[in-house]
Amino acid sequence: MTMTISHLIRRFGPVEVLRGIDLEVRKGELIALLGPSGSGKTTLLKIIAGLDWPDAGGLAVNGQDWLARKAQERRTGFVFQHYALFPHMKVADNVAFGLTVLPRAQRPSAAKIRARVEELLHFLQIAQLADRYPGELSGGQRQRVALGRALAIDPEILLLDEPFGALDAQVRRDLRRWLREVHDATGTTTIFVTHDQEEAFELADRVVIMGAGRIEQIGHADEIYDHPATPFVARFLGLTV
Ligand code: ADP
Repeated sequence: MTMTISHLIRRFGPVEVLRGIDLEVRKGELIALLGPSGSGKTTLLKIIAGLDWPDAGGLAVNGQDWLARKAQERRTGFVFQHYALFPHMKVADNVAFGLTVLPRAQRPSAAKIRARVEELLHFLQIAQLADRYPGELSGGQRQRVALGRALAIDPEILLLDEPFGALDAQVRRDLRRWLREVHDATGTTTIFVTHDQEEAFELADRVVIMGAGRIEQIGHADEIYDHPATPFVARFLGLTV
């Protein structure tokens, strides 16, 4: 899918949290939204997912109005930093969940769901965890399972909000590499929110730098480091101007 975000505005009371966001997300691309806390990254993801609504502006997917679709009709996959897996369900059932709650007409048979989950767990290198409960897993394993759950429905777009934020540095690095492999194999259009520069620049095809509700710069690591577009970007990246 190609997503075109045009002049999106979101206010909470008198505060403009998104102040005119324009962004084109290309098919199969992995985009990182990078910016300090409070810059509006999560709000933008929520609007894409249908969990929040803009006050003005548009969002089109493959040329069609995306905002007119209900959240359930948007086929988005979501992973949050603290996105709790269902504690009373085994890993395999957690991953199957999104498929079991699809409307009847779209829901695969129980046998097909089992096969899909098995294939996905294998692909994500967590097949050995299928019968465990979330409470028996490490933080990194839980986020792998959460990604499995998000991918099970074959989402049109995958939205990741600081998914590795609570994990220690080494696990983060391993998961980053793993996520990049998973992305390259599935080609799912992905938006990854982070406030960690290293993570954003290593992982993403393009980095979108946000500050105070605006996009300050969009580009590849080299472009942004060599030519920071604004004093904000230079300061945020710790570059001297
Ligand atoms: P980020 O993800 O970059 O940390 P957020 O999108 O979470 O930023 O928040 C941007 C700003 O919007 C923050 O100042 C936050 O306090 C405010 N905000 C977010 N959600 C709400 C809400 N539901 N009501 C009021 N203010 C909100």
